Amino acid sequence: MSTESFDAVDVIRTKRDRGTLSPEQIDWVIDAYTRGAVADEQMASLNMAILLNGMDRTEISRWTSAMIASGERMDFSGLRGADGAVKATADKHSTGGVGDKITLPLAPLVAVFGVAVPQLSGRGLGHTGGTLDKLESIPGWQAALSNEAMMEQLSGVGAVICAAGSGLAPADKKLYALRDVTGTVEAIPLIASSIMSKKIAEGTGALVLDVKVGTGAFMKDEASARELAETMVALGTDAGVKTVALLTDMSTPLGLTAGNAIEVEESVEVLAGGGPADVVELTVRLAEEMLEAAGVHGADVAAALKDGRAMDVWNRMIEAQGGDPRAALPVARESETVYAQADGVLARLDALGVGVAAWRLGAGRARKEDAVQAGAGVRLHAKPGDVVRRGQPLMTLLTDTPERFGRAQDALEDAVEIAPEGSRPAQRLILDRIAE
Ligand code: URA
Repeated sequence: MSTESFDAVDVIRTKRDRGTLSPEQIDWVIDAYTRGAVADEQMASLNMAILLNGMDRTEISRWTSAMIASGERMDFSGLRGADGAVKATADKHSTGGVGDKITLPLAPLVAVFGVAVPQLSGRGLGHTGGTLDKLESIPGWQAALSNEAMMEQLSGVGAVICAAGSGLAPADKKLYALRDVTGTVEAIPLIASSIMSKKIAEGTGALVLDVKVGTGAFMKDEASARELAETMVALGTDAGVKTVALLTDMSTPLGLTAGNAIEVEESVEVLAGGGPADVVELTVRLAEEMLEAAGVHGADVAAALKDGRAMDVWNRMIEAQGGDPRAALPVARESETVYAQADGVLARLDALGVGVAAWRLGAGRARKEDAVQAGAGVRLHAKPGDVVRRGQPLMTLLTDTPERFGRAQDALEDAVEIAPEGSRPAQRLILDRIAE
């Protein structure tokens, strides 16, 4: 005789028949799945029913709380700076894109203004890059930190980018791996609760979400990105986290690099007051949003990039995790150039095509346990809107293993479009801002 409070099949039937799951059913199913009392095939079936029939705001909120309750919660409320004053905390989460290195300059930039940034990040899987993979190309840099070391670095340096410990929302880890192989990743309630359970458990006071829209993003169209953003903002707000979302374009890569070491190099250019305009624009805007959400108003964020203050924090942040910020970065052994096939204006440079090419060159991994190549990736020489001439280099492909060039070139086959001169592609980076 089972001692379980519910029967998994009843819970599945409720959602299959478009019913509303009760708070008790949700608490039980998440807990029982984490303990192994609900089988993978039962949870997969429930996930599919949620994907097809949705969840209301109360259900999503309870689902998120149950995932938070499956593990530890960090608490930065007592965090103090070197002067003894309590520090506010702010974090940023991007739903993932190609060339998205923004976290690297952003975390030290926000810390300049006295707001601590506890940035728990992940590794890349598939065509979207991972912040930890990029930082690991810096000689000596370590992603794993104990909670104590993280607190110490937050209080001293003010910014930490590190791997999330296994204690944070363990239900999500199991559930995400299951969704990945059962065609249920794309359910908005499940994505929103997955992301927000980790961010709320992390204990940040303010959160800015960068929700990507376009070919290189999870959400291909603006309506679904908006729905995801609104759902996450509501979840954060309900949990007492000041949460704001920006919808930003991911139809073309951010900046001029997609890879690991080459993205670190570009981030350092931004921290030195230069770098590509789109990376600077998004870094500055996200920093302003994070500071506002943390209660720091009217900060001159761009000045801190120009005058070296953000670079000082970056150097200390990298050193605190064993890295040498002045060491030469790894360089790929082989390169191949992609040339423009016509005269005109670069009308489209597709984020997904470039992301898949960088991944196939070795910048990303096909399986969780694969290693990435630090020097691999794609360097862009033109962006949409630029006038190009036939025969001009458009991209350089980089890898240590030249047998990868062929499949990377295949990924780029339909990624480039050159239009007659005079036509201008629409180029809006920040599409909207969503707050409660
Ligand atoms: N990122 C997450 O953490 N979870 C999802 O479900 C999708 C993206």
